[in-house]
Amino acid sequence: MLKVAKFGGSSLADAVQFRKAAEIVKSDSTRRYVVASAPGKRDSHDEKVTDLLLQCYYLAKEKKNIDEIFERICSRYRDIIAGLGLDYSLEEDFSSIKTAVLHRVGRHYVASRGEYLNAKILAKYLGFAFIDAEECIFFDEKNRFIPDKTEETMRSILSLHEYAVIPGFYGINTEGSIRTFSRGGSDITGSIVAAAAGADIYENWTDVSGMLMADPRIIKDPLPIPEITYRELRELSYMGATVLHEDAIFPVRKAGIPINIRNTNAPDAPGTMIVPKATTNEVETIITGVAGKKGITAIHVEKDMMNSEVGFGRKVLEVLENHNVPFEHLPSGIDTMSVLVTSKSIEECKGAITAEMVKAVNPDSITLVENLALIAVVGRGMVNTEGTAARVFTALAKENVNIRMIDQGSSEINIIVAVEEKNYEKTINTIYNEFIK
Ligand code: ADP
Ligand code: ASP
Ligand code: MG
Repeated sequence: MLKVAKFGGSSLADAVQFRKAAEIVKSDSTRRYVVASAPGKRDSHDEKVTDLLLQCYYLAKEKKNIDEIFERICSRYRDIIAGLGLDYSLEEDFSSIKTAVLHRVGRHYVASRGEYLNAKILAKYLGFAFIDAEECIFFDEKNRFIPDKTEETMRSILSLHEYAVIPGFYGINTEGSIRTFSRGGSDITGSIVAAAAGADIYENWTDVSGMLMADPRIIKDPLPIPEITYRELRELSYMGATVLHEDAIFPVRKAGIPINIRNTNAPDAPGTMIVPKATTNEVETIITGVAGKKGITAIHVEKDMMNSEVGFGRKVLEVLENHNVPFEHLPSGIDTMSVLVTSKSIEECKGAITAEMVKAVNPDSITLVENLALIAVVGRGMVNTEGTAARVFTALAKENVNIRMIDQGSSEINIIVAVEEKNYEKTINTIYNEFIK
């Protein structure tokens, strides 16, 4: 048996949390490889070290003074070291990192130092080897993750150590520069390590007792999800159930390794098992979970007989591609096509995009609808249960929530609705209450 345990930011936010994490690791000798995040928030008013580092980067870029914020970062680590009673110093690292920031090294390097320093402390405290992620996680010249080389190298380095700590979130590109995954990316590192180690399980230790049926910041005490498939999880995490990074399932999925989401503050709770195939498709609640995200803009393109015009869709999407804008969803009618994108991704090119679409396909009309939210109702139990969509729509109609768009995935495990942003919380509440009584 071999387990890989990733601890998130809140699980390593201070010395008290470090002790809990270390106790978990030490209580089971099969927990051999540990992936560490940077110190997260100690309470809701606190700041994550990653955010402080990024602030330093932007200050340095504007040639402003970083002393005060950099000092706050150092003192977070000094407090952890002192609180653990370790005879250990990171002062040399602090000064070389500070010099690098002042010399305006890359943003990714700066952001990655949070996990680098935290993993060093954790390795010292556990008495495990420290393996730097820059030795074994690789990105290509376009900064795309290279799975094969990473897996091979990671495997051979891990085989040299019975027990080790690896910092999450980053690796190195072909030019020799540090590169991070997107925010929350330590979950991906954990998954990569688990796959390379051939782990039996990838434990992801966080601050909630597993994946919950809805965001606990919106629904009070939502029910935990005992078991969820990779596919369901991917739908929920992509849609905003941020407990696990949406890309974290890929490395373990390939190897068929289950992920177990656990709570560092309640280590006896079983948490959520994320599995390739569920033990049953008879889900009592019918839905597995509901999640959503705000900040969506719909681009509606209308043209009579659009369907018979070969290449219409491609031309519309090509305009987005030229501006490097990915699309989220693509619900279409006969004479209308709607492209849903994040508002942020088109912030600076809205005007250009509409103008170019007019030129590309000569539509009857193009409208942008802003301030939308997308909400996904996900569940493998929906496949065998009729009328789930009707229940969702009826419940929302009763609450006077106007559904702006509907998209049911061809997989039948999800129903996605777009509503006005102001109805986001209400929509999640209504759907949750409809299925969970
Ligand atoms: P970590 O720092 O351990 O990586 P994150 O903050 O990334 O933890 O993820 C855990 C948080 O995800 C929880 O504290 C919770 O607020 C939030 N969250 C959002 N949706 C869900 C959900 N459906 N189930 C559980 N947690 C959720
Ligand atoms: N520390 C990074 C972040 O805040 C990565 C992570 O926590 O997974 O995004
Ligand atoms: Mg996270």
